[in-house]
Amino acid sequence: LSEKLQSTFDRLAGKGQLTEKDVDIAMREVKIALLEADVNFKVVRDFVKRVKEKAIGAEVLKSLTPAQVVVKIVHDELIDLLGEAGRLDLSGPPPTVIMLVGLQGSGKTTTAGKLANWLRKQGHRPMLVAADTYRPAAVKQLEVLGEQLGIPVHSEGTEPPPPDIAERGVREAKHKAYDVVIIDTAGRLQIDEALMQELEEIKARVNPREILLVADAMTGQEAVNVADTFHKRIGLTGVIFTKVDGDARGGAALSIRAVTGVPIKFLGVGEKLDALEPFHPDRLASRILGMGDVLTLIEKAEQTIDTSKAEKLEKRLRQGEFDLEDFLEQLQQLKKLGPFTQLLELIPGMSGLKNALPADVTERELKKIEAIINSMTREERRNPRIINGSRKRRIAAGSGTTVQDVNELLKQFRMMQKMIKQLSGKGGKRRMRLPFDLP
Ligand code: GDP
Ligand code: MG
Repeated sequence: LSEKLQSTFDRLAGKGQLTEKDVDIAMREVKIALLEADVNFKVVRDFVKRVKEKAIGAEVLKSLTPAQVVVKIVHDELIDLLGEAGRLDLSGPPPTVIMLVGLQGSGKTTTAGKLANWLRKQGHRPMLVAADTYRPAAVKQLEVLGEQLGIPVHSEGTEPPPPDIAERGVREAKHKAYDVVIIDTAGRLQIDEALMQELEEIKARVNPREILLVADAMTGQEAVNVADTFHKRIGLTGVIFTKVDGDARGGAALSIRAVTGVPIKFLGVGEKLDALEPFHPDRLASRILGMGDVLTLIEKAEQTIDTSKAEKLEKRLRQGEFDLEDFLEQLQQLKKLGPFTQLLELIPGMSGLKNALPADVTERELKKIEAIINSMTREERRNPRIINGSRKRRIAAGSGTTVQDVNELLKQFRMMQKMIKQLSGKGGKRRMRLPFDLP
C-alpha cells in the first residue's frame, strides 16, 4: 500500500509543476490505497473528488514542491475527515455517566475496564456498573475485571431489569462520591429490537453524558452499518474502536466518521487493560497512508523505557542521525514493549520488514539481526558504509549467518535510515507529522 503511494509521490517529486494529469495519477493511487485500507467506496469517491479539486486549484508555494502540495492536501483532508482528537465530555455535576453500547464480542466489557483504568490514571474515581444481564457470564466478567483493577463494580446478578440496575448503580456512585460511572450493557450478535429498547430505556433513566459505541475494527465495513444503526436509534456521542491491533488498516474508522459524523474517541490496541489509546486523527491518517507512526512509538516507549533514553531516541530521530547501534537498541527496547509485530507497524520502514517475514519467525529473525549487529565492530555500527565484502564475510561467520543475511539487514537498515531522514528533515516536529516528507 505505502510503497505504491511512495513511488507515485517520488515520481511527482521530480516535477516542477503539477499538471492535472499528475494529480489524476496520484489520486488513482490514493484511491487504491484507501480501498485497500478498507475505506467505504463512497467515502473514497467523495474524498478523492475533494482532494482533486483542491489539488488542481491549489497554488504551489515557492517553498514546496507540487508533490508536497498534493501530499499535504491528502493528509489534511484525511485528518479533516477523521475529526477531532478524542476527548471525553466529563462536564456537568458528578457522577458523569458513560454508557457503552455495541454488538456482542465487540469488546464492551473489556473496554469498560480499560476506560475505568484510564480514567483513574487521569485522577478520577470511576465506578463500573454491570448492566448486561443477557449473558450470565458477563456480570462475573466485569466483577473480575473490577477486582483485578481495584475498581468498584455495582452488580445485581442477572435478575433485575438492566435499566433498574443502571439507575441504582448511578445512585450508589453519587452516594459514595465516585465521579464517573461506566455502564456495561448487553450486546447481541446482530442488532435487534429488544436490545434497542433496553438501551433506550437505560439512556432515559441515567441520562448519560457519553454514549460510546464499542466497535470491532476487524469487522470492517460491517462496523460502519452497526454505527449508523446505533446512532440513528440511540444517538451516539463517540466510537471506541477495538482490536485495532489486529487490523492496522483503520479504514473502518475513517468510514464511520464520514458516514455518521460521530467522532472516534479511543482505540483498543490489545487485550490487556492498559491497551487503550486516546484517538489522534493525524496519527491514524499517517497510518492509513502507510507511513508508520513515529509519535505513537515514542509515546509508548516513554511509558515503558526510561524517559532519558526515549528522549535521546527522539532527538536522534529528529536529527536524522540513526546508526546500527540505534537500530539494535531500538529493536531491543521494542522486545520489552510487547507484541513485536504490533510495534513494527509503528516504525517507518519497518512495516515492510514485518510483511517480508512470516509472522511466526519474526522473533527469531530479530535474534538473527541482533547476532549480526553484535558481531560488528563499534566502527562498523557507527558507519555501516565501511562494511565491504570481507567485513561481511567476517560478520556472517561471527554471527552464524550468511553474507546474504548481512546484506539483507543492511538493506533494511538503509531503508529505515532513509525514511527517518525524510521524516525528520529541517522543520522538526511539525514536519515529522507529514506522512510523506519529500524534498
Ligand atoms: P463484549 O461482548 O462486547 O463485552 O466483548 P468483551 O469485552 O467480552 O471482548 C470480547 C473479546 O475481545 C475478548 O476476548 C477480549 O479480550 C477481546 N478484545 C477486546 N478489546 C480488544 C482489543 O482492543 N484488542 C484485542 N486484540 N482484543 C480485544
Ligand atoms: Mg460484555
